[in-house]
Amino acid sequence: MSDLDPKSRCTGSTNTSPPPTRGGAFLPLCFLQVVLLTVGNSQQTTLSDFAAARQRMVEQLSAPGRDIKNPLVLDAMASVPRDEFVPESLRKFAYSDEPLPIGYHQSISQPYIVAFMTDQLDPKPTDRVLEIGTGSGYQAAVLSRLVAEVYTIEIIEPLAKRAEADLKRLGYLNVKVLAGDGYKGWPERAPFDSIIVTCAPNQIPQPLIDQLKDDGRMIIPVGTLGDQQLYLLRKHGTKIEQQAVLPVAFVPMTRGAQDK
Ligand code: SAH
Repeated sequence: MSDLDPKSRCTGSTNTSPPPTRGGAFLPLCFLQVVLLTVGNSQQTTLSDFAAARQRMVEQLSAPGRDIKNPLVLDAMASVPRDEFVPESLRKFAYSDEPLPIGYHQSISQPYIVAFMTDQLDPKPTDRVLEIGTGSGYQAAVLSRLVAEVYTIEIIEPLAKRAEADLKRLGYLNVKVLAGDGYKGWPERAPFDSIIVTCAPNQIPQPLIDQLKDDGRMIIPVGTLGDQQLYLLRKHGTKIEQQAVLPVAFVPMTRGAQDK
């Protein structure tokens, strides 16, 4: 990836530290140090270095303070090489629990957020899932290990093209990528069992609610940077149930949301 921009905005992260009594408040720093000590000093980081760092990342995801318990989600996180979805110059940080810049002022989400959002969807092997905000393609790759089909939309065309090529190269063949405005969803492929949105609109887009199956789930950040919550939404007929589950910091959903 040569289009790396140092001004890339932080996305898909949470600054909510777990309560100190649960011993997790300093986890990201410690974890980063472990990763740097293990893989950061070598000139050439080997595949087994990455595999070991990935395993440690997964152990941290299920530790007290993080509490991702679904073994299928943890297995998916253990199987997808995040190092393949970040710029070459940042690969040594691929398994730190941080968002990283991917160019075009965008970022790959923090692993904890990817695991948390995936878990909230309660994915099933027969599900067809829509993602808005493909970015690097990493979240789509994790989902693709857990469900039948993933449809993902990215508004920045070069990012959509690069993610599509990376996903194909790495063998994630049940993911379809579309370059376009995810505010409108993907009506031709609807309805979806669940929808995951990784950029933040000011309000939940009605087309996405319409394209969700009855009893489907949507996980979506809503609000502006500095005042954003991740919502879990469930659709029961015409009734929409929604609950705020985590304060987060995602980049804004552009165009469609602004047009509104
Ligand atoms: N899920 C990504 C990270 C998301 S970053 C990953 O795993 O790497 C958020 C992405 O949402 C950015 O790439 C941004 O370009 C995209 N985005 C913003 N508004 C959008 C819109 N209206 N439709 C589709 N994608 C959008």
